[in-house]
Amino acid sequence: MKYEAVIGLEVHAQLLTKSKVFCGCSTKFGAEANTQVCPVCLGMPGTLPVLNKTAVEYAVKMALATHCKVNHKSLFARKNYFYPDLPKGYQISQYNEPLTQRGYIDIEVNGEKKHIGITRVHMEEDAGKLLHGESYEDADYSFVDLNRAGVPLIEIVSEPDIRNSEEAVEYLKALRDILVYLEICDGNMEEGSFRCDANVSVRPAGQKEFGTKAELKNMNSFRFVQKAIEYEINRQIEVIENGGKVIQETRLFDSDKGVTISMRSKEEAHDYRYFPEPDLLPLQIDEAWIAEIKSTLPELPAEKRERFVKEYGIPSYDAGVLTATKELANYYEECVQKYRGQGSGIGGQEIPKTVSNWVMGELLRLLKEDNRDVKDCPVKPDNLVKLMKMVDAGIVNLKTAKEVFEDVYKTGKDPEAIVKGKGLVQISDEGALVKAIDEVLAANPKEVAEYKTGKEKLFSFFVGQTMKATKGQANPQVLNRLLKERLAR
Ligand code: ADP
Ligand code: ZN
Ligand code: MG
Repeated sequence: MKYEAVIGLEVHAQLLTKSKVFCGCSTKFGAEANTQVCPVCLGMPGTLPVLNKTAVEYAVKMALATHCKVNHKSLFARKNYFYPDLPKGYQISQYNEPLTQRGYIDIEVNGEKKHIGITRVHMEEDAGKLLHGESYEDADYSFVDLNRAGVPLIEIVSEPDIRNSEEAVEYLKALRDILVYLEICDGNMEEGSFRCDANVSVRPAGQKEFGTKAELKNMNSFRFVQKAIEYEINRQIEVIENGGKVIQETRLFDSDKGVTISMRSKEEAHDYRYFPEPDLLPLQIDEAWIAEIKSTLPELPAEKRERFVKEYGIPSYDAGVLTATKELANYYEECVQKYRGQGSGIGGQEIPKTVSNWVMGELLRLLKEDNRDVKDCPVKPDNLVKLMKMVDAGIVNLKTAKEVFEDVYKTGKDPEAIVKGKGLVQISDEGALVKAIDEVLAANPKEVAEYKTGKEKLFSFFVGQTMKATKGQANPQVLNRLLKERLAR
């Protein structure tokens, strides 16, 4: 029998506000444990929460960016459960009447567009963090750090529209890119500021009803999300094939073993005894405020990608790579503008693709090797443009230019100065090239004879030898022409 997987994701994103969602404590990451706490986030009796306006604005931004409807009135609710990282014994969240509902994003998987529905985006507060001794295995003590308690979160719940692990990862990446573009979350999965729970079920292909789902937790990278989902799909198929039944439960991903392990039976909403938070008024958001927030939205990743394809005529693949971050996209656009502005030897049509090749090929390669961000890129757009123009003008050939680029990257120096200083100017002088060619031909009489009897493939051998003799500085067009002439004699 063939099976189909059904997947819905619940994403928690920490918002980049300066203070917590219901008190004035700092949200700064990495401070000494329990130094960013106060009676409100410690859950002392008699304290009252005060809602952070910026957190609301950030949540609305995300809702608008994911085409959700923003409710004019929404309610906060208490979600009750006991856990040592939750001093109040409940989490302030939203349940009935959340901030926003019914949106979507479009993702692209293997060149095909796919529409993923978003059920809701609601606000809530984060819990503290438990630290178990030195390692989970041999912990004698556990510790609690409440600096994180009360940090604002949004929870983004997807519809069960996802059908495999690849789509799940693309959806998550798209959400993270939007959050980072909006500058409302740093999107760091390892530090836990962007977290995902995956609900996974399987059903026989063609069946309408969903199967029973398991909820997967503890995946702190895109790769782990992919692996956990794949493992879980296979596990459930096996259970059914062996005549068993999938049970509704929460499972933890063990990244060392690459398996999911049952953690607890899944709690139901009624287990949480949700009730309206009596210390907070209903949240009211009018059209004017929504419009004001909307006017601050930046161009989003998908829009930018489309514009790059239209405006610059580059392939959609290039546009996707170049818009991965706002900073990289800005770098690219600055280069294109400067290159065009200063006039160039090559046609205006080719400029965007040439810049794209340099940025995707050379620049990203070096940045990746260094694990460096484009924000700290040592090659200023001006210098990359100068280098590309030296290639256009025939001052250096492409191969030399790539070497110079590495030099600029390492030293931050002006490429013109490097080319002059190292004597790398391309040899276009016909006399010098003819001399080098003749020496190569004289040194390889056997190959010359074979070439003349029709072994034309040897042409590239002569090109290679002459390039070597000129330390790679020969102008390739002039070299090709002269070499043909000399061989035809
Ligand atoms: P619960 O009440 O158990 O929390 P929800 O209906 O709130 O379940 O859905 C939680 C998440 O699980 C959503 O992202 C939803 O898309 C997804 N989901 C719901 N049913 C299934 C299913 N049968 N298989 C996979 N995912 C599902
Ligand atoms: Zn506090
Ligand atoms: Mg639910």
